[in-house]
Amino acid sequence: MDSVAERPAGLEITTQLRAERLDTLWKFTLIIAVLIVLFAFSLGLSMLRTQAMLQLVVAGVVVMVGCLGAQRFLNRKRYEAAVWSYALSLLMAIAFFMFSPGAKGPEEGRLLAFAYPVLILTVGLLLPVQSVIVALALSIAATLIVPSIGMYFTVTVAQVLAIVLMGIAAGIASQTSGEVYGIAQWALESYTKERALKDKLFDSQEELNRSYIRQKVLADDLQKTNIELEAARAAALEAKNFRGQFLANMSHELRTPLNAVIGFSETMLNFPMMYDGQELPPAYKTDLTQIYNSGKHLLQLINDILDLSKVDAGRLEMEIEAVDLDPIFKGVLSTAIGLVGDKPIKIKRDAPEGLPQVRGDSLRIRQVILNLLSNAAKFTDKGMITVGAAAQDDGHVRIWVQDTGIGIPAEDMASIFEEFRQGASGRRKGRAGSGLGLAISRQLLNLMGGQIWVESRLNAGSTFYFTLPVFADAAPAQAAQAAQAAPAAQSNQA
Ligand code: ADP
Repeated sequence: MDSVAERPAGLEITTQLRAERLDTLWKFTLIIAVLIVLFAFSLGLSMLRTQAMLQLVVAGVVVMVGCLGAQRFLNRKRYEAAVWSYALSLLMAIAFFMFSPGAKGPEEGRLLAFAYPVLILTVGLLLPVQSVIVALALSIAATLIVPSIGMYFTVTVAQVLAIVLMGIAAGIASQTSGEVYGIAQWALESYTKERALKDKLFDSQEELNRSYIRQKVLADDLQKTNIELEAARAAALEAKNFRGQFLANMSHELRTPLNAVIGFSETMLNFPMMYDGQELPPAYKTDLTQIYNSGKHLLQLINDILDLSKVDAGRLEMEIEAVDLDPIFKGVLSTAIGLVGDKPIKIKRDAPEGLPQVRGDSLRIRQVILNLLSNAAKFTDKGMITVGAAAQDDGHVRIWVQDTGIGIPAEDMASIFEEFRQGASGRRKGRAGSGLGLAISRQLLNLMGGQIWVESRLNAGSTFYFTLPVFADAAPAQAAQAAQAAPAAQSNQA
């Protein structure tokens, strides 16, 4: 609400205050008028019924009518009409007296004009300046005209004096009324402003209360969602652990018969002496070699699944120790030669001697490098495969396997580290895989405090990098091992 909208309400209050004043005035005047009429009656009865008494009665009745009119108008909330009803009745009553032949001679009658300033003052207190001017004009007219009705028009000193007093009364009335009106207006405006402010404050407080309630509801919702989320997380964790457990059991159960398949096929192929020296007919050899190779592939797959499931179930055990990279490099490089077979690929080592020892599990480090090397061999047809390493400034050793193979499309770069995800290259015929090698490598490195990433250009080759923390000394190594166990367990559960 603004103050402009409040204005009429403010004026209503001023009018109401004045109406109350008029209410008192008309009642008071009515009593006096009634008393005058009664007095006039009794005087008229006891003495002779003179015309002066009659004039007094008529004047009293006029005033009574004016007062009752004021009351009626007030009841109908027509305040201005009420004031005029009251003021005009008084004006007429005074004029009536001035005309009254009861006044002895014109001089006495004209003296009654001195009552007009009081009337003007009264009007001034009840109505705005314009009304005061109207009252003044009417009073002057009555003062000048009424006493001269029926005789020559004359103006006495008393009349002039009365008119001057009327002017002064009008001045004082309008001044006072203006000031009073201004003060009332100011007070009302202040009151209105204060009320608006109070309303605003109240509104703000309400709004605040509402936001508080809203916030509380939201907080409750959030808490509920958190509880649900926690339950969902626990369920997911349980499902993951269950999956890990299930895969671990399955892999274990599959490995036993598979080892028999591989073992017997290998014996049949390579050790005829086990069958009393009977050579296998050549027609069988191709199929049996296929059985043997498929068996090996299947076993690798099962081993990978077993590793992953152990990580999932938080059961992968690591022998964290100080690891010398040199013997690992030597071992994997000779394996790499076997992996590339008869493809025109050179195997190169780009790792200086005397690298610092790293902290990790030597078998698992070897497994990661072999995974990368077997991928490099699988996805490279000619060129070079390099195994390199260098110590970094941040307390890690960086190891890489670089090839000049088919490369990895940009859209596959992120997904190839996820379980069972193969890139476009991996899905090509003749390069079959499981999509598990990189996922396992990443998990193993996480557990050893390392990281893995790739840089590659399509048809130009790929470089897989990974880091391992440098082994500082024995004491920190043990601490690190202990620390390693905790996050490892956590990450397995997550
Ligand atoms: P797999 O090799 O058994 O498919 P990996 O997890 O080892 O599973 O590799 C995931 C995918 O990453 C592969 O299918 C292949 O698309 C891509 N990839 C990995 N190494 C290379 C590489 N050296 N060159 C090109 N693509 C590679």
